[in-house]
Amino acid sequence: MTATPTTAASTTRASTTTTPTTTAQVIELAGRVHVYEQAPGGWCVNNAGIVVDGRGALVIDTAATETRAKRLRDAVDGLASGPRRVVVNTHAHGDHTFGNHVFGPATTVIAHEDCRTDMDRHGLALTGLWPGTDWGEIELVLPDITVTDGLTLRYGSEAAEVVHVGPAHTEGDLVVWLPGPRILFAGDVLFSQVTPFHLFGSVRGTLAAIERLRDLGPRTVVCGHGPVAGPDVLEENASYLRWILRLAESGTAAGETPLEVAGGADLGRYGQWIDTERIVGNLHRAYLEMDDATPGGPIDYADVLADMVAYNDGEPACLA
Ligand SMILES: [Zn+2]
Repeated sequence: MTATPTTAASTTRASTTTTPTTTAQVIELAGRVHVYEQAPGGWCVNNAGIVVDGRGALVIDTAATETRAKRLRDAVDGLASGPRRVVVNTHAHGDHTFGNHVFGPATTVIAHEDCRTDMDRHGLALTGLWPGTDWGEIELVLPDITVTDGLTLRYGSEAAEVVHVGPAHTEGDLVVWLPGPRILFAGDVLFSQVTPFHLFGSVRGTLAAIERLRDLGPRTVVCGHGPVAGPDVLEENASYLRWILRLAESGTAAGETPLEVAGGADLGRYGQWIDTERIVGNLHRAYLEMDDATPGGPIDYADVLADMVAYNDGEPACLA
């Protein structure tokens, strides 16, 4: 299938809540399919999906803080008449998983096997990166069901296909594809008006994943962060990542460090996206992949994060 040249599907705004610096709203994308969109979508301010049927709801990702997760839960409860709750975690990062616990012990949580391993290994460590954030009472709830390739969930007469596409943003990325309304919940494999960030996964792997997602032919794309998008967001992400690879190639040839390359790079239109400092993390990952064609793999995160702080002239802002 090829992508249809349309932008985002028509939307209906059902509710809006505000915090001093961010907003959250439920947008109906198709019958029974909603996005819980948190703007502007930077660090730890992510989107979730809500697919409802008579028995309950499929929730795609949760949220970072207790307050945000409970707001999401309230939105789900407002939309779903039945009691069943199934949560799919698209990947291990805390902004997508820390809110699992607010849905209660009767909820089934599904994730990729590598996502569960990462969650178990890193626990709540993300909170240490932004100690000034009001995380609230959060409790790690690991997935009950893990997959390695994917599975199909049924909602009424509709299918929700859960597909492994990593290593991309992480080693264990899942996307949720609704072939009926052609809506793709991409997790952090894709970003919308927010700088992509693939330090924990693979730049090359994400480019390969984007090709697979393109073949699905989505009409509407919900990225892990940023506004609901149309299929053009696939190429926007791919062009950024190709640019990163070109920078890494010339930087490696010139003997420059990723931080030096980032400092000298003209961001052009990518400078309009938020969290531009992520270029440093992306370049570190791309440098690693210059020599080794194998996507993913270990990297010294502490050094990379220090470089990002240096590029940014301070800690990146977390609005969660
Ligand atoms: Zn993430």
